Amino acid sequence: MARAESELHDLIRESIQGIADDFDREYWREHIEQKEFPEEYWQALAEDGWLGVTIPEEYGGEGLGMLEMSIIIEELSRGGGQGGIIFVLTPVFGGIGIQRHGSEAQKEEYLPKIADGEMKFCMALTEPEAGTNTLNIDTYAEETDDGTFHVNGQKTFISGVENADSMLLVARTSEFDKSNPTHGVTLFVVDDPAEREGIKLSELDTAVPWFERQYQVTYDDLEVTEDDILGTKDGGLYLLWDTLNTERLAGAASALGGGLRAIDLAVEYAGDRNVFGQPIGAHQAIQHPIAESYAKLMAAREILYKGANKWDDDEDCGLEANVAKLLASQAGTEAADRAIQAHGGNGFTHEYEVYDIWQNLRLTQTAPVSNEMVLNYIGEHELGLPRSY
Ligand SMILES: Cc1cc2nc3c(=O)[nH]c(=O)nc-3n(C[C@H](O)[C@H](O)[C@H](O)COP(=O)(O)OP(=O)(O)OC[C@H]3O[C@@H](n4cnc5c(N)ncnc54)[C@H](O)[C@@H]3O)c2cc1C
Repeated sequence: MARAESELHDLIRESIQGIADDFDREYWREHIEQKEFPEEYWQALAEDGWLGVTIPEEYGGEGLGMLEMSIIIEELSRGGGQGGIIFVLTPVFGGIGIQRHGSEAQKEEYLPKIADGEMKFCMALTEPEAGTNTLNIDTYAEETDDGTFHVNGQKTFISGVENADSMLLVARTSEFDKSNPTHGVTLFVVDDPAEREGIKLSELDTAVPWFERQYQVTYDDLEVTEDDILGTKDGGLYLLWDTLNTERLAGAASALGGGLRAIDLAVEYAGDRNVFGQPIGAHQAIQHPIAESYAKLMAAREILYKGANKWDDDEDCGLEANVAKLLASQAGTEAADRAIQAHGGNGFTHEYEVYDIWQNLRLTQTAPVSNEMVLNYIGEHELGLPRSY
């Protein structure tokens, strides 16, 4: 049974809107241009407890759920800048990954620091050859007799390594076995990835207007230990898939909020701009696309909240998480495209923001997971259609 929106949720929205309002367009523009982490914004979120929203209270968090995290991400994205997406690497991959699958020692070490804003994560899964085919990764962690692992291989498009205190690294620990394809992948928590011996970073020239950089990461005999394993050796894919549903919910919330921001800006502009004796928003060629995009975003929001509720109730939310991610990323991108159209020439200036919003929303159709893989999930798991790959 889905939990309804409550007074708590109104308070969360209000608090987040207050934080978002304190960081204006100039603040974000500077951080994006300088590729600088928005530390003041991060600390404001930590101070109000929002970075630890899903972390249990015993580890310094708020003990709330994915519904609350989704609302936070939606409002941060709607508030501008890059507030929403900031959640995916640390509170989702780091926080939820460790709170659900970490050892007691890992929970005690990492969770309070995530909640306090003292620590950030990055996540290294994608490889140049394997791409979307996670089973095909060949970064390999070879176990030695003394219990250490030596990691060799390469990752690509890894975001935010320069700011990360820790990297979640996905590596093979056993050769691929056709009879047990999901066995043999392990997640490691690798501290200080930017400084660490055995890790070489090479910056990629990506076009996304973000404050973070993307890297090709080369592992050359990186040493990690058994204590660095998150979950169990060879059991990393189960853990990864468990966390990916929250990543999809978070991605959907971010696209939803970004789409709503595009609508807010389009409404404001179309209400003011007057070229034929009345605001352009009165013309249905401008008004209807905006209204239709809003309707699509409202529908995506319902599925998102349903999925988040299911996750909080420990029910399988695979369908809702995938549908929400698909619909929010498509409707969000479309909303931004329509907002650009409503802005005329101003739609292509930095001052009016909508072009930057479009670029960020367009990315949500490809990363963190592509919409083709989302449709594969729906086709195979929900509709029982045969697998093509
Ligand atoms: C800005 C940015 C930041 C990123 N940050 C990170 C990060 O922090 N960590 C990380 O690990 N990765 C990150 N990524 C990588 C991202 O997750 C991948 O780019 C994405 O998952 C697609 O993988 P690929 O680029 O290898 O595409 P490919 O696997 O080469 O696929 C190319 C296209 O073919 C489609 N396709 C492939 N196989 C199938 C199939 N079986 N059925 C239907 N369609 C298919 C794909 O959906 C895609 O559209 C980032 C990417 C970008 C652009």
